[in-house]
Amino acid sequence: MLSFDEARTRILDAVPAPTVFSVPLDQAAGYVLATPVTARHDQPPFAASAMDGYAVRAEDIEVGTPYPVIGESQAGSSGDLSLGSRQTARIFTGAPVPKHANAVIIQENAARNGDQVTFSEPAEPGQNIRPQGLDFASGETLLAPGIPMNPARIALAAAANVAQVEVFKKPRIALLSTGDELVPPGSKLKPGQIVSSNSLALNALFAPYAEHITDFGIIPDDEATLRQAFENALQSDTDFIITSGGASVGDHDLVQPVLKSLGVEVGFWKIAMRPGKPLMFGKSGNKLILALPGNPVSAYATAFLLVLPALRRAAGYTNPVTAPMHLPLASPLGANGPRRHFIRGKLVDLNGQTHVRPHAQTDSSHLSTLANSDVILVQHENSTALNTGEIVDTFLLP
Ligand code: AMP
Ligand code: MG
Repeated sequence: MLSFDEARTRILDAVPAPTVFSVPLDQAAGYVLATPVTARHDQPPFAASAMDGYAVRAEDIEVGTPYPVIGESQAGSSGDLSLGSRQTARIFTGAPVPKHANAVIIQENAARNGDQVTFSEPAEPGQNIRPQGLDFASGETLLAPGIPMNPARIALAAAANVAQVEVFKKPRIALLSTGDELVPPGSKLKPGQIVSSNSLALNALFAPYAEHITDFGIIPDDEATLRQAFENALQSDTDFIITSGGASVGDHDLVQPVLKSLGVEVGFWKIAMRPGKPLMFGKSGNKLILALPGNPVSAYATAFLLVLPALRRAAGYTNPVTAPMHLPLASPLGANGPRRHFIRGKLVDLNGQTHVRPHAQTDSSHLSTLANSDVILVQHENSTALNTGEIVDTFLLP
């Protein structure tokens, strides 16, 4: 049996390097940077007031003495104003600080009388002023490649006057469900039929990492039909083909023989994990094929734990495997066998501290439990029984 870590590494190693293209910032959300974002100017570009008040020369100021107000600087002002000895200027948040001013006294500590102002507090040099380049300096690397553009990073790139960023293309995905018993949601069920849920779950799970997802539908357990469906998927403009069902070695499990008959190199792995029966992994040219087990929780768990990292690598992430949170158990767990156990769980508050409570239900068809879970927590291979309060690796579900 292959260890979970080894299986994930083998899949990640097979993912081809992504290609690069350029996007305007308003379309960059979710894409991973391919080249660094570099500041095109100092930010702020000039020393700016952080408050509404009066720009002063700190060393001039004595409490209770009136000073002349010689002008005004507001946001958008040119910054040409210059203070002579014992002069002040009215100033507003974001406005350029006049030349020779070195402090801003907030308006709450100022009493204005015509062209004069009196202060109730002295001034410290630098107070309430954002120096030029406080946030970043011209030429500074602001964002490194390999991280996704999120709202804050988009704001930073925009503030640095970068209108366009180079990002990696996201992978294109084909989905395929197999099983004679499956019908789409909304069907009138005949005896023995099961409503297909896997493709809908996988579609929603993969969407943030995919350029597009094409659903090739439900394919019956019939060799010729399945071969035709795979031929179509292999010829489509996709990078990943993800199937569910029919991936074991029973009489009606046709995924492996059909893929082989189409010349796909197929690796059939028994991975030491629960849930997740054998998983099939194939390559055809640059296309990767991952055949997941049919049981809905097994399909979801293997997609979350093994396919998502591959999609993230394909999308250019430097760290395709998300780091676990280390959380204390809210209830005990029995000893584990030789397969790594991925257990559905809920986050709960115990005495003001976040804990993870494993669900007792571990059946691999039990979707209600999955839908009522915040996380998947990990019990390692051959782990002894774990007590309440012991720390476990925990992965947040979407
Ligand atoms: P299989 O892996 O094809 O042996 O399927 C294992 C179990 O998962 C069977 O009970 C199937 O009915 C169920 N199953 C397979 N595919 C799906 C699907 N797309 N949606 C819901 N259940 C499925
Ligand atoms: Mg089946």
